[in-house]
Amino acid sequence: MLTSICGINWGDEGKGRMVDLLSRDFDVVCRYQGGNNAGHTVINERGRFILNLLPSGILREDVVNVMGPGMVIDLKHLCGEIEKLREGGIKISPANLKISDKAIITMPYNVLQDIMEEDRLTKATGKPYGSTRRGIAPVYADKYMKKAFRMGELLNTELLYKRLPDIIAWKNMTIKAYGFEPVKVEEMVEYFETYGKPLAEYVTDTGIYLNEANKNGKNIMFEAQLGALRDIDYGIVPYTSSSSTIAAYAPIGAGVPNLKLTNSIGIMKAYSSCVGAGPFTCEYFDEKAEKLRGLGGEYGAATGRPRRVGPFDVVASRYGIRCQGADEIALTKLDVLSEYEEIEICTHYTLDGKIIDEFPFTDVLDECKPVFEKVKGWNCDISKCRTVKDLPKEAYDYIKLLEKLCNCKIKYVSVGAERDAYIKMY
Ligand code: GDP
Ligand code: MG
Repeated sequence: MLTSICGINWGDEGKGRMVDLLSRDFDVVCRYQGGNNAGHTVINERGRFILNLLPSGILREDVVNVMGPGMVIDLKHLCGEIEKLREGGIKISPANLKISDKAIITMPYNVLQDIMEEDRLTKATGKPYGSTRRGIAPVYADKYMKKAFRMGELLNTELLYKRLPDIIAWKNMTIKAYGFEPVKVEEMVEYFETYGKPLAEYVTDTGIYLNEANKNGKNIMFEAQLGALRDIDYGIVPYTSSSSTIAAYAPIGAGVPNLKLTNSIGIMKAYSSCVGAGPFTCEYFDEKAEKLRGLGGEYGAATGRPRRVGPFDVVASRYGIRCQGADEIALTKLDVLSEYEEIEICTHYTLDGKIIDEFPFTDVLDECKPVFEKVKGWNCDISKCRTVKDLPKEAYDYIKLLEKLCNCKIKYVSVGAERDAYIKMY
């Protein structure tokens, strides 16, 4: 079985939490895109963990974790993340962590570029992209310019250090244009020596490993970062990430373009949240926003930034489900809505008096207004519910309404951050 777990919305849907839960049925978990701009929070019997680069399966002893060629890896960050998990008692070795030789290395100067450009944009236009400032866009740009370094190069640093001076000279042309101090080759050599060498033992051809695992009947899960609306092609460009967050990219980004997905599970939030800038049509403001943000604890796991919030957005979610080719849905954070007498849903948008119910092009989206409809809330704690029968009628009706509006089956409903706080609907 080859299953992809991906975000339906703007990210932070609770993918880490669902991967942690569902990975019990899988032998392998692969991350296939993005870098340490991801923030997956997982709470289980071993503690509370925030994962940025490592696949969420790392918290299960019998799961092998793969970081695929579609990823961009900040070496220092990964060393730190491994260290922190080890301190928390998690065992990590080449037996349970395999990093693709084709994965791209995020360089310290990519982080610098990200900061320089966000600051320039802020000054020039007052409208930065809302980047996490972790070098993700610049390193993906380098990848497509064919100027990036790959993890496999850590296995032969002699060759790597031969390539280094010209790439640094090229990069410094940009850095100098921003008025910053150029980067030195020696600093980069030291960086590879300190943070690259300890990771070399994990580097392998993940395509060979995954094909073998598949042939041997192992269950493989592909874990996405962010959501459909942050995809570089299908999201709210330019307020997106710089990688493909969609399920169809999973086999490519993991190292197995020859394999086809068995199914795609979409993680969808019972309301909306959006970190960073960009159009967010269903957005709540003022007290309404503060209440929902407080109830949902909506502060970024990677950055601590307060997330923008709003009610469930049917237009955006339906589009997200289509982009992800989701066969079934895990609806998360339903418990967060427990304190509402009435719950709003953004059923469609309007533009110049016309109804919009297909997610529009970004420029059009900016002009759209949300239309909210109200349904009856359940107004009681559902965090202890574990079966469909435990759910109050209004909560069950809310789930069924979303299912109908989005035309996709909701298989799991999460009612808490802990591993067992969920309901299997069928
Ligand atoms: P990800 O990026 O999609 O993995 O999601 P994040 O970890 O960034 O954000 C989800 C947050 O909600 C985390 O703090 C989770 O611990 C928490 N969470 C996940 N599922 C639930 C749920 O069903 N109920 C509540 N109350 N919290 C949840
Ligand atoms: Mg997150």
